[in-house]
Amino acid sequence: MLLITCPWCGARPELEFSYGGEAHIARPADPASVSDADWTAFLHLRGNPKGAHRERWRHTHGCARFFNAVRDTASDTILATYKPGDPPP
Ligand SMILES: [Zn+2]
Repeated sequence: MLLITCPWCGARPELEFSYGGEAHIARPADPASVSDADWTAFLHLRGNPKGAHRERWRHTHGCARFFNAVRDTASDTILATYKPGDPPP
């Protein structure tokens, strides 16, 4: 079983976590002023790299907090986890 390290609770089984999509996607400050193309990109376009990918996760069945993780998409291993607002490792 894959263990994921919650920044607050420590290593826990993957069944306690939920995937939350790509990390560091910033909502436009004034959505009414962006073009349709930019709004569509914000809503739908995400990276799909082979290798390190920064993702948002939630410790759903634990502390319920969101955090960020760097996951290798080729090997499906979590390389690092960090709190929101902290710089990526
Ligand atoms: Zn936790």
